[in-house]
Amino acid sequence: MVGAGPGVRIGGREVVLMAGPCTIESRPQVEAIAPLVKQAGARIMRGGAFKPRTSPYAFQGMGEEGLRHLHEVAAAHDLLVVSEVMDRTQIEMMIRYVDIFQVGARNMQNFDLLKDLGKIRKPVLLKRGLSATIEELLLAAEYILAGGNTQVILCERGIRTFERATRNTLDISAIPMIKHLSHLPIVVDPSHATGIRHMVAPVARAAVAAGCDGLLIEVHNQPEKALCDGAQSLLPEQMATLSREIHVIAGVIGRTFAS
Ligand code: PEP
Ligand code: MN
Repeated sequence: MVGAGPGVRIGGREVVLMAGPCTIESRPQVEAIAPLVKQAGARIMRGGAFKPRTSPYAFQGMGEEGLRHLHEVAAAHDLLVVSEVMDRTQIEMMIRYVDIFQVGARNMQNFDLLKDLGKIRKPVLLKRGLSATIEELLLAAEYILAGGNTQVILCERGIRTFERATRNTLDISAIPMIKHLSHLPIVVDPSHATGIRHMVAPVARAAVAAGCDGLLIEVHNQPEKALCDGAQSLLPEQMATLSREIHVIAGVIGRTFAS
């Protein structure tokens, strides 16, 4: 069980929702989205300030200024913050703004970053690499744990397969397998797993039914204008509907969901 902040534990009975935009774009954008995800039952707000974009010409993120917006606005709505750390040199600055450090899929085996995250005492959400096996994910987590930081949350976000209809292929069986092999909480990111808005809710519902400890979901108030991942971002009303459904599914399997 990982304690992310006052009253927020990941890996217990509650299925924890982490939601927000792919990337922080402006103060007004964060202010518009925070109350929407809070209302949908989120405990934690997501938003990238350092973005690992495929193209170097795509928006790279707002950096520290973005983190300040996310931290301040999330706090005003009683939300914790998760945001991606791309490099070990960013840890010291970020520690003031984030409650959970996210390690992106592309950095799952950045061992120097993992070792440095092992030295801090804040939770780390470690995403499965694009073509990493479950064993490789667990060994990557071990780098953080070996340093003495026991607060590791694993994240299944889809893996690369021959299938091109979706952005990635969600490995739903990773959830029960990781539960079997490890004591670490496992959350699912249905946004990057599918890449397609209309697929996010069905896949999220399946992940909860399969026993995940939380969901990391991209939500945007104006996805058509999003600087990153608009096509896979849920509209606020879709997030609200999904929350009601998750509440029911969680109850069926003896879990809770705050909404
Ligand atoms: C993200 O969460 O915005 C992200 C870049 O995810 P991933 O590392 O899984 O691609
Ligand atoms: Mn994204």
